[in-house]
Amino acid sequence: MFTLPDLPYRYDALKPAISEKTLRLHHDKHHAAYVKTLNEVLEKLGKTPASLEEVIVESAKGPERRLYNHGAQAWNHAFFWVAMSPSRQQPTQDLAAAIEASLGGLAGLRDAFVKKGLAHFGSGWVWLTADAAGALQVTTTHDAHDMLTEEGITPLTVCDIWEHAYYLDYQNGRKRYLEAWFDALPNWEFAASQLEAAKAGRAPWRHPAPIAAARAA
Ligand code: FE
Repeated sequence: MFTLPDLPYRYDALKPAISEKTLRLHHDKHHAAYVKTLNEVLEKLGKTPASLEEVIVESAKGPERRLYNHGAQAWNHAFFWVAMSPSRQQPTQDLAAAIEASLGGLAGLRDAFVKKGLAHFGSGWVWLTADAAGALQVTTTHDAHDMLTEEGITPLTVCDIWEHAYYLDYQNGRKRYLEAWFDALPNWEFAASQLEAAKAGRAPWRHPAPIAAARAA
């Protein structure tokens, strides 16, 4: 079974861009519920996967939409937490050069990120991704959809644009949320390590492995 990963910072660490109240609800209720349902579905199906990545890649192709949706949402949220930092950062070195080459610099990336996030209809995620050659792209996915099934694509960062991520703090102001998020929260050090992995063909960030359930031990 999978456990809910702890936040890598305090609940009040991301304010004012994200309030403590939003972060508590988002992590302790929304993310926790995805993990709980994921475990229930796995138990019902009698599956004991070795990794969450395996669950997602396999269920993406099959009829188990509940398994895919809750598995991918569990993954996306765990990735979202580590993709943010309480201390404001700037992209440096290789990452800064890649942003310059692919998106015309940080201002161009911000513009694309906010525009795509704003234009996205309904729930989903805004991603900055890299291919194996180090070319960057801003893209959005719907609902639970993630990047694990996109061959050769590595996510560098992600912003949750489900309403539960911002409604308490920004109401219908998704643009203000996206701008505040982009300016204050991306963990560019983490994004740089993901880019390095993408270019070197190494494994990028992976979700914490499941713990053995009592009956499986
Ligand atoms: Fe969320």
